[in-house]
Amino acid sequence: MKSAELFAPLLAWYDEARRALPWRAPPGERVDPYHVLVSEVMLQQTTVATVRPRYAEFLARFPDLATLAAAPLDDVLHAWQGLGYYRRARGLHAAARATVERHGGTLPADVASLEALPGIGPYTAAAVAAIAHDVPVLAVDANVERVLARLFAVTTPLPRGRGELRRIARELPPAERPGDAVQALMELGALICRPAKPACLACPLRARCAAHAAGVADQLPRRTPKAARAARFATAFHLTRPDGAVLFRRRPADGLLGGLVELPSTPWLEVAPRDPEAEAPAATAWRRVPGTVRHVFTHLTLELELRTGRIDDPRRVGVEEPIWCPPGSFDSLALPTLTRKLLAHVARVG
Ligand code: SF4
Repeated sequence: MKSAELFAPLLAWYDEARRALPWRAPPGERVDPYHVLVSEVMLQQTTVATVRPRYAEFLARFPDLATLAAAPLDDVLHAWQGLGYYRRARGLHAAARATVERHGGTLPADVASLEALPGIGPYTAAAVAAIAHDVPVLAVDANVERVLARLFAVTTPLPRGRGELRRIARELPPAERPGDAVQALMELGALICRPAKPACLACPLRARCAAHAAGVADQLPRRTPKAARAARFATAFHLTRPDGAVLFRRRPADGLLGGLVELPSTPWLEVAPRDPEAEAPAATAWRRVPGTVRHVFTHLTLELELRTGRIDDPRRVGVEEPIWCPPGSFDSLALPTLTRKLLAHVARVG
């Protein structure tokens, strides 16, 4: 299929059907590359409905790339609360800083320079180049992957089939209105060529779609079955001092939930810790809180027990750089959802 055969009917459909999204410029207007970058990073693994309000809040706090670059990482992680996958927030912050250092604060327009920035992968680089600068390149996200797999009836299961889909995308550079063409393909995947029950009868590409012709649209793309999530167990400690402040610690900068603030806990183990109080942040009369808190990460499920305790002398805690915070100020901390669940559990049951 030639690029024009795909994009001419697709763009005609997009001009009628496109949703007004806060990060999308009105027809004929240019979009701010920083807005594209923020929205594309936020939309990875997160739905449009979740991103919408958070995008507005984030831009109110960091209205331009220079403000984001100058902000402490802690502020950025704080603004990212509830969106999960915090590596994206750290990457976005690193990209902003590197853009100031290397490009005087203006995001470059070409894919290679964008991809050379920390925190920007091939997908985000292509999306920013195409949407903000009309570079003729196809950014392949999960929606585009699905549409291409169906249009060309690619039967190799994902993730193995991704190479083939990327090759197809490279051979289809949109010659006309590349930014709109990329968004049109994403929009088709979101509204018409949906994961389950694609609305083929309403699709502008129906006449050219191999999967539709073969009657296998809803069976593609195929996927290799995922390995079961690993299970981990731990005990978290809710320690208060006489004025009611609660003890927190900061996680290491690298790794899962890197740089965020949490309740101290035992290490996450394959079996429930036998003697959790040996790992407690202080020696005191710990009380077990009934029930457990479960949290699911991409690759593992964590089940936590909780202990609560009080300490008279806050200098006697075994936590490097302890953070004491009164309950009314928890919102000032960059807390992951897991820690918020634990605090809610203590408030409810403890
Ligand atoms: S015809 Fe159906 S399967 Fe093919 S691209 Fe359109 S919605 Fe997707």
